[in-house]
Amino acid sequence: MQFGVKTTEDVDVPVRSNVAYIRYFPKDGTYTLRFLEGYDQWIAYYEHYSEEFRCSYPCTAVAPEDCKDCPGCQLADKYPNEPSKVKEARRGKKFLVNAIRTDDPDSEGYVNLYKIPGGLKESLELNWHRDGSMSKREYNILRYDNGGRVAYAIDKEDPSSFDLSLYADKLADKQAALMDAYEYRWNPSKRAAAQEARENRKAAASVETKKFEMKPKVQEEDPPFDKGSVDEAEQLLSQEEIRAMTIDQLTVWFRRAGVPIPDTSDQKVLAETLISAFSD
Ligand SMILES: [Zn+2]
Repeated sequence: MQFGVKTTEDVDVPVRSNVAYIRYFPKDGTYTLRFLEGYDQWIAYYEHYSEEFRCSYPCTAVAPEDCKDCPGCQLADKYPNEPSKVKEARRGKKFLVNAIRTDDPDSEGYVNLYKIPGGLKESLELNWHRDGSMSKREYNILRYDNGGRVAYAIDKEDPSSFDLSLYADKLADKQAALMDAYEYRWNPSKRAAAQEARENRKAAASVETKKFEMKPKVQEEDPPFDKGSVDEAEQLLSQEEIRAMTIDQLTVWFRRAGVPIPDTSDQKVLAETLISAFSD
């Protein structure tokens, strides 16, 4: 038996650094992000959610005809009498992007991978084309309850100076993170190892305060929806849509968002107040 090798025979095995957990938006509220990659660098994918293991994981298929090769998609056929498996077979569209959260002191300076709901695509892609970048401004992602369903809206801040180059070598490997998520669901030994690593990181994270360093944090997932499919659960409310609302519709949205209703019957004032409340 021999441990190690002579240095002359040493081979550098690439260390898979910058592996991050995929973060999401766990409860109703506003999340302010600065995206670190252009929309053309994002990964569009579908994901499943396992109730059994309380985790999301990527679907191996993009086109529906390839779903026959995805173990998640096959669950409904395999276990037609198990509602949780039938539910798990449904998939929802997501985008994966490196970003920093700027409204949370605990996240300050840390690059993480965020999964962005697929329903926000049009708005984000449009802004990317307009700005020629996704990093020129911060974006507020609002998660709210729309009649029992999770819904999202997005609002953009004014452009502000930002040194993207500070983060150039901090970007996490998206494929590696997706592979980790997939293996967590389907490979019991990887799951056990990941659970142990999570516990260790949890302990380390509680004493780790260094800035500008990847800090994977544990973020266990709750089901993203209760009713309807994931796609149905995600809705986009743009500034244009808010401006087009009647006073009655606006009033409903003020209540939903828990924003005090201004004492005015001017539709324009109401709409702008709601827009600015969403971007606060
Ligand atoms: Zn699938």
